[in-house]
Amino acid sequence: MTVVKVIVDVPANAINQTFDYSVPEHLQDVVKPGMRVIVPFGPRKISGFIVKVTNESEFDNLKPIQEVLDLTPVLTTELISLGKWLAEQTLSLYITVFQAMLPQVFKATYNKELVKLTDSHLPPSIASVFAERSVIPFEEIEQTQLSYRDIQKCIQEGYLYVNYVVKSRVTKKYKTIVKPLKPSHLLEEAGLDLAASARKQRDVLNHFIQNPEPIEQKVLIEQLKTTISPLKALVDKGLITIYRQEVYRNPVNDDQYSRTFPLILTDEQRKAIEPIQTDIAEHKHAVHLVHGVTGSGKTEIYLQAIQDVVDNGKEAIVLVPEISLTPQMVKRFKGRFGKNVAVLHSALSVGEKYDEWRRIHQKEVQVVVGARSAVFAPFERLGIIIIDEEHETTYKQEEQPRYHARDVAIYRGQYHQCPVILGSATPSLESYARAQKERYKLAVLKKRTNEQSMPQVTTVDMRQELHAGNRTMFSRMLLDNIHSRLDKNEQIVLLLNRRGYSTFVMCRDCGHVNECPHCDIALTFHKHTNRLKCHYCGYEEAVPVTCPSCDSDMIRYFGTGTQKVEEELVKLLPEARIIRMDVDTTRRKGAHERLLERFARKEADILLGTQMIAKGLDFENVTLVGVLTADAMLNLPDFRASEKTFQLLTQVSGRAGRHELPGEVIIQTYTPEHYSIELASTYQFEAFYNREMAIRKTFQYPPFVFLALLTVSHPDQIKVIQTTQQIVALLAKYTREETVILGPTPSPITRIKNRFRYQCMIKYKHEPNLKTLIRKVIQQFERETTNGELMITVDMQPYQLM
Ligand code: ADP
Ligand code: ZN
Ligand code: ZN
Repeated sequence: MTVVKVIVDVPANAINQTFDYSVPEHLQDVVKPGMRVIVPFGPRKISGFIVKVTNESEFDNLKPIQEVLDLTPVLTTELISLGKWLAEQTLSLYITVFQAMLPQVFKATYNKELVKLTDSHLPPSIASVFAERSVIPFEEIEQTQLSYRDIQKCIQEGYLYVNYVVKSRVTKKYKTIVKPLKPSHLLEEAGLDLAASARKQRDVLNHFIQNPEPIEQKVLIEQLKTTISPLKALVDKGLITIYRQEVYRNPVNDDQYSRTFPLILTDEQRKAIEPIQTDIAEHKHAVHLVHGVTGSGKTEIYLQAIQDVVDNGKEAIVLVPEISLTPQMVKRFKGRFGKNVAVLHSALSVGEKYDEWRRIHQKEVQVVVGARSAVFAPFERLGIIIIDEEHETTYKQEEQPRYHARDVAIYRGQYHQCPVILGSATPSLESYARAQKERYKLAVLKKRTNEQSMPQVTTVDMRQELHAGNRTMFSRMLLDNIHSRLDKNEQIVLLLNRRGYSTFVMCRDCGHVNECPHCDIALTFHKHTNRLKCHYCGYEEAVPVTCPSCDSDMIRYFGTGTQKVEEELVKLLPEARIIRMDVDTTRRKGAHERLLERFARKEADILLGTQMIAKGLDFENVTLVGVLTADAMLNLPDFRASEKTFQLLTQVSGRAGRHELPGEVIIQTYTPEHYSIELASTYQFEAFYNREMAIRKTFQYPPFVFLALLTVSHPDQIKVIQTTQQIVALLAKYTREETVILGPTPSPITRIKNRFRYQCMIKYKHEPNLKTLIRKVIQQFERETTNGELMITVDMQPYQLM
């Protein structure tokens, strides 16, 4: 008797286990671990993952599985065991973890089709179903008597494959095109007939006289600095026409990447790569921390290590933070490995993501470059995993399953006995501490490959600016330097270390701040709609004319959003061309790249933006980087605030003077004496590390202890406090004496969407049973969390403390 153990798609703690099913005759040889199946569950039919195929069960009267969804497993046996481990580590549900490992397509609705890859070899029974076609809907197979086992064999041999076609809800995209209807000489004639005042219409005609090709309306309007109305007038006169044209999905064209070849490594690079190459050759697992300043050639090390792996017939995963996954970055990998690279990032549509995943699953590529979830790429012969910018907190997923990609990478590295490379100019304290203890192998690159020194950093004390009567956001020194760059046609990057929408409204008479009625947070002022919005729950209201609290009319806007900085910049430097990059200007797909391309083409002098501009950018003409508010992050209620500030400042500094032109960095701050600012401006990583470690030790924070954060929420504040208190008491009772249990403490944002939020923080050094204990404690509240309004979330090794 064949029995399959299945994890079913019912996301509930009580169901978080395998269920046994029998297998009907015709599927006996077909089922394999990692396949998805449809099974009866109570009165319903639901999907699930086979995690084990066996021939015994401790239960009688098993129900049979209904059907198989895949003929090739979508999870490898390694990924199944990784999934189990990860669910336990993160206290997540098995089903949630398995789903997180797969592309979204498997959660969407899709059609299956069977694709014929070859004409020969196919058994006649199968070939006849295809007849002349190369693709058939899978349903046709289901209606025949063909055995799944035979089809499965053909798939294994590479004669057939099953394709999943997403039922796309994506609407087609269009662009608006303008095109002349008359030849040039007639346009010229028409131009003579125009009224003298119709200057704008004449501009348009002149454009088409010189360039008769159709042009996108947006581009034309921008180029001619005109508006839509002269175009409409010309349409009415029958001289031009405006129409919509479909924009096709732009598949990545491998030919557009010119081939690059391995560079001769510098001494530092050679010293760094040698131990990695040894581990690759000897199939040994170790974690290598490559600590190299920006521009020291870490990426070239990755590329050459991957080359070794690929030459050995093995596979490589490269993780890059989402916002660094720019075309520039992709180009470096495609340039070296061409079609052998799949790219996985969130800007792809569900269908595109599946296309890339399938290329990995089908073993068509050996290299994948992607954001966090690419760490689950279903390779079976992994030879290396690389995590670039390893200190980035985006490697931690902030929803279930709350995993850290670094932990997953190390698990997989051990499983495949291959090296894991962590690279950074500013390693996380956790990783650097492990390297100090020789649990990781450390390689250091101190020099830039072009022998350029790191840019000179100057800090400006903004308190003194204020004393000197300068009330703007720009110090005199920064402004002078911007002017001199503008004169030389060099470019400038300005970083506002803060989000674009942080402007809030405050009454100058009584200090009243307009807050969201549902969340404990100030409402954000949105200028273009003139409304106040809550960015947690979406609540909005009109900007009040008078203070709701004291009726004063002294309502003012505070905070420095990027919009406001841009306005001030325009006033101070009317001649400068500025590109603003923040959440508002990059919301649309591809907007991020378009803005950067414009900056690269020197269509602007200044790139002004939030954190997102700090990384991965490489512009040869940028010689000045200004940080407007270096301390913004220092005041966050987060023990990593100093570390994050140090990392960000170091990273932006790396943006200047990457090429021939020397660079300079100006950091504006209200606390120039703070060690993270002082040490970042002098590039003293080691000193920062020692200083910060001492503080972490004193206050008992990672890497000296481990953390677990429990957040309890409920609409009733008393209820939340009571529940958290009970949890704290239970945890304290069953943990060691030296383990610290803090709480109940209100979360930094105490109310979101009308739910009160309280925390319990556990600081521990050694608690082997902590996860089991937490599970048991949460189980005590099972009734209220399933049927009531209570919510308890657990985050092991949290990065977000809000
Ligand atoms: P990192 O990833 O450490 O910031 P990169 O790998 O981007 O550094 O290297 C910085 C620049 O130096 C790149 O333009 C790269 O092509 C170049 N480079 C890297 N290694 C070498 C080398 N061995 N010889 C010459 N140029 C190199
Ligand atoms: Zn007031
Ligand atoms: Zn709100």
